[in-house]
Amino acid sequence: MNHQKGRVIVSETESIRFDSLDISSELLRAVERMGFKAMTAVQQKTIPVMMEGSDVIAIAPTGTGKTCAFGIPMLEYLQLHEDQIQELVLAPTRELAVQITQELTSLARYIPGARIATLYGGQPIAKQIQQLKRKPQIVVATPGRMLDMMHRGLARIDRIHTMVIDEADEMLKMGFVKDVTSIIEATPSERQLVMFSATTNQDVMTISWKYQYQPVEISIEAVAENKPQITQYVIEADRKNKEERLLYLLDADEYHRIMIFANTKSMTDRLCSHLQKQGYDAQCIHGDIPQGKRNRVMDDYKRGKFAILVCTDVAARGIDVDDAVSYTHLRAHET
Ligand code: ADP
Ligand code: MG
Repeated sequence: MNHQKGRVIVSETESIRFDSLDISSELLRAVERMGFKAMTAVQQKTIPVMMEGSDVIAIAPTGTGKTCAFGIPMLEYLQLHEDQIQELVLAPTRELAVQITQELTSLARYIPGARIATLYGGQPIAKQIQQLKRKPQIVVATPGRMLDMMHRGLARIDRIHTMVIDEADEMLKMGFVKDVTSIIEATPSERQLVMFSATTNQDVMTISWKYQYQPVEISIEAVAENKPQITQYVIEADRKNKEERLLYLLDADEYHRIMIFANTKSMTDRLCSHLQKQGYDAQCIHGDIPQGKRNRVMDDYKRGKFAILVCTDVAARGIDVDDAVSYTHLRAHET
């Protein structure tokens, strides 16, 4: 470990247990129940710094346990007797917002008074308004729906103490810069602002520069221990035999779960129904599929109820599924 001023770089993995943290026994029990023993690198670095109240910008590869890295300090500092929104997490996609809520809910298992609301577009607003009426202390939201709720006067964030932006690079790339900025500006200026990103880019740095106060930079390099074991390869195919190649791979029968990414919604639909007709256990999600169904499909996929998920990039970032194989590189070469 190598502490320079304002910057923590970790390359080696030291095994540090969660019980070395100064956190409540309820959180420790929850972590134990989730089956975690040692902290991941990003958790080792982020949790203490966040608990000190510093702003953080953490750049870490996917699958390194970022959700618990911010979730643990968030739950540790929840004031259960106060019922205004205290903590806000912004995520770029609906699927990710749902997943973050699930992880926070697992962490909050032994903290019965913790209330979490999840706000995202594409689902009837009435149900989410109900969630807000229950006075959540934590809100996990996509930017559009969050702003909508703020404009309706249903979600006040002028007393929050912690705001987390997850997948910041992706969020800002998706054109949410203005929305994210308006949301940050509605929070108190002394709140803690924590950003997580897989990469840095100009927009991420601008937000950091404008709104963070002496942020601690945490950068976790992708090393063998934290890199998911992914083998990538490209199969060259032309339009005509692309599908045949894909079926050949699916029939190789080596994989339990497969994600197939397609470029457009209509390609996703077409490929999925084609696979279903041929007897493959496939389902699809994309932006035109009603949100309730998207949630069900994603949930069933994570539980292993079907094997092949065909999707657009709504499922590309931050989504955590074990053992999945993805086919994105099956590109057609126009001839
Ligand atoms: P990221 O946001 O960095 O992509 P996630 O927070 O989605 O990663 O975590 C990836 C997976 O690792 C999840 O299934 C999560 O429950 C699990 N996980 C998180 N922390 C630990 C830990 N300390 N030990 C083992 N597994 C963990
Ligand atoms: Mg994540």
